[in-house]
Amino acid sequence: MQPHPFANRTVRMNNCIFCKIVRGEIPAAKIYEDETTLAFLDIQPVHPGHTLVVSKNTATKNIFDISPEDWLAVSRTVRKLAGAIEKATAADGINILMNNRAHAGQVIEHPHVHIIPRFANDGFEHWRKSTYQDGEAQAMQEKIRALLANA
Ligand code: AMP
Repeated sequence: MQPHPFANRTVRMNNCIFCKIVRGEIPAAKIYEDETTLAFLDIQPVHPGHTLVVSKNTATKNIFDISPEDWLAVSRTVRKLAGAIEKATAADGINILMNNRAHAGQVIEHPHVHIIPRFANDGFEHWRKSTYQDGEAQAMQEKIRALLANA
């Protein structure tokens, strides 16, 4: 028998911690809420003040399926909170980060953006960098542009 088309989604929604926080089923240290977004402190912060901004739409997982409207709402909330978080933590800067899919570090399958206060000499390294070989950047540019043109 074929699995029900929403079978995976149902399992995810029942087990999704952020869906439970959005529904008020488990507690969180909330710092901001509006109609479509919710922000709360990450339970295992990189630094104190590390905040997660989540969409209240519990039917989506990441950047690939969030609607433009819901993504805009999350972005607005991130923009609204960044300054207050920087001030409250006396940070020297802020990283805005989103992990999408497991191999990019996404653990919770619910759209969320990290706001991470950063400090001079806090010891965190940025990503390793590479370089393009001759023609490689142009080939990549054309490939992405072609996909966008056909989207
Ligand atoms: P990601 O790896 O991008 O999916 O990030 C998930 C984040 O959620 C991690 O930084 C966790 O520390 C955080 N987290 C997990 N459970 C909770 C919770 N109940 N309340 C707040 N933050 C949580």
